[in-house]
Order: sequence, then structure tokens, then C-alpha cells
Amino acid sequence: MKELKIWMNGRLVPNEEAVLPVNSAAVFYATNVFEGLRAYWNPADEELYCFRLEEHFGRFRESMKMMRFTIPYSDEDLFQAVREVLAGNEVREDIHMHLVAYVLGAGMEATGPTGLYINPRRRGRLSNAGLRCCVSSWARTSDNAIPIRLKCGANYQNGRLALLQAKADGYDAPIFLNQRGEVAEGTGASFFMVRKGQIVTPPVTSDILESITRATLIEEICPNILGMEVVERDIARTELYVAEEAFFCGSGYEITPIVSVDRFPLGDGAVGPITERLLHAYMDIVRGEDKRYQSWRTPTYSAVTV
Ligand code: PMP
Repeated sequence: MKELKIWMNGRLVPNEEAVLPVNSAAVFYATNVFEGLRAYWNPADEELYCFRLEEHFGRFRESMKMMRFTIPYSDEDLFQAVREVLAGNEVREDIHMHLVAYVLGAGMEATGPTGLYINPRRRGRLSNAGLRCCVSSWARTSDNAIPIRLKCGANYQNGRLALLQAKADGYDAPIFLNQRGEVAEGTGASFFMVRKGQIVTPPVTSDILESITRATLIEEICPNILGMEVVERDIARTELYVAEEAFFCGSGYEITPIVSVDRFPLGDGAVGPITERLLHAYMDIVRGEDKRYQSWRTPTYSAVTV
């Protein structure tokens, strides 16, 4: 399989040439912010469609602002870079991309110069059969310690520790509680459950990322396709054990079912019916089979602007 090149500050380079100076704040303090998004290949149109690109650029900008980066890029510059990395690699398949902005200056006070790279990755689905999760003994970092509602690389050390511990203990993935002891999210995905027939997810004030997929479910798919409003409320740990269904969602995870928590099977221990319906509704939207949401799908090869 052809190796995909990385777009770095205007050039396409092989992986080994996409390097950063060791004394940069980017390397030493993980002073970077990023977005992870998918583009879906449509063979009939011969086109790659990025899903909710505008919202990803918006959050990328908020991440740079909150982490006090100098922001040299317009959305048009970012879109141009996305098109260059896809066209330069002649991508004609589903693809996941990391857009990463980083601080090249040295030291804790560095706010620039800001560099940009885009790493295109082949990334399949995590699990269709469902994940066996645990409640992590690592707490989700508080928004008062480091802004957890945005995507900065340093935040992901919290997720990394929880994931490695979950794996060491024989689970597929951890679920974080926040510092108040309420359910927060996964390492790279938002958390939803079905309890007493309602779809429930923690509010954005519960130390979670402001997820684009979460908003897509709350604002559109659940009310307008399934006919079910999402309840945004705190979730207690033990509710996890008696939930009928649960799933993670995210640009990378799409909708990924959870079938047990701390070895308690959810429902009958298989992927739940509401989760199944949401998964299909979501995939129909991102692939354009549901024609109502074309404005969320940005074609990258034909000449358009975001
Ligand atoms: N929470 C965390 C911690 C994440 O890293 C992600 C992935 N970006 C999500 C939730 C889901 O966010 P989105 O739907 O915007 O991809």
C-alpha cells in the first residue's frame, strides 16, 4: 500500500522528513492543538467529501486562541492545505486526517511562530461488535487545570494513561469520570447511554470536549431522524452498570457501541437497537446517502470554497 505523504508548511514530505526541532515548545511541552476528521470517498462522484469541515476549522481556531497561539491561517488557507494533502497523495479512499498546529519557538512563553502539518491516515472502524469498557481510576482533567473542551495534544496524556491502564486490565477502552465523580467521556470520543428509554449524555460543563459528532446527534439525528430528544444531564457511575445501551461517538469513532462496563453487560450484552439505528443514520449522512445534509459534506476535488 502506498505510503501517504504529510503536508508540512506548504510541502508534501515523507514521514521521516516531517520532523520538529527538539527545543521547540511543540516537542518539549506538547504545545500543539489539533483536529481529527474524516473524508469519505464517493466512487460515483469520484469525489472525497470532508464531514463538517467548517465546524472542525472553527474548533481548531478556538483551540489556537485558548492555548494562546499566534494564528496565521485563514479558513481558506486551511482548506487549501487539506486539498493539497489529499490531491498530492491522490487519495481515492476513505481517509482520516490530523490537522496539527504547533509552536516552533522555544520555552514556556512561546506563542509562535505557528507551524501546520496535516497527516492523512488510513483508519478503519474501531469496533462494530462493541467495546468492553471499564470506569477508569484516572479522573478526567478538569477544565480549570487545562482547557479540556478543546483539542490540545497535552490533554491526551490523560487519555493515554487511562487507555494503557484499561488495556493492561483486560478491557478495550476506559470511560472517564470527571473530578466531581460524574461520567465525562472516553479517551477520544463522547459518551452516550440509553437509560429507561431515553438517550442521555453528559453536558458540555462536565469536563468534556465540545464534540462535533455529539452536536450532530443532539441537534439533528436523534430528534429529527429517530424522533428522540437527547437529555443532557450528569450521569452517575452506577447508572453505567444498569444502562440498556451505550456508545462512544466522534469523528474517528463514528458511532462505536459499548457492550459492557466493568464487566456488567448492558442490556442483553449485544449492540443495542437504538445504537444500531444511530450508527446507520450517521453513516448514511456522512456518505451522502441521506441527501438532506449535503451542506455538511465539503467536496475537496471540485473547485469550491468553505
Ligand atoms: N472527546 C475527545 C476527548 C476526543 O478526542 C474526541 C475526538 N475529537 C471526541 C470527544 C469527539 O469529538 P468530535 O466528534 O468532534 O470528533
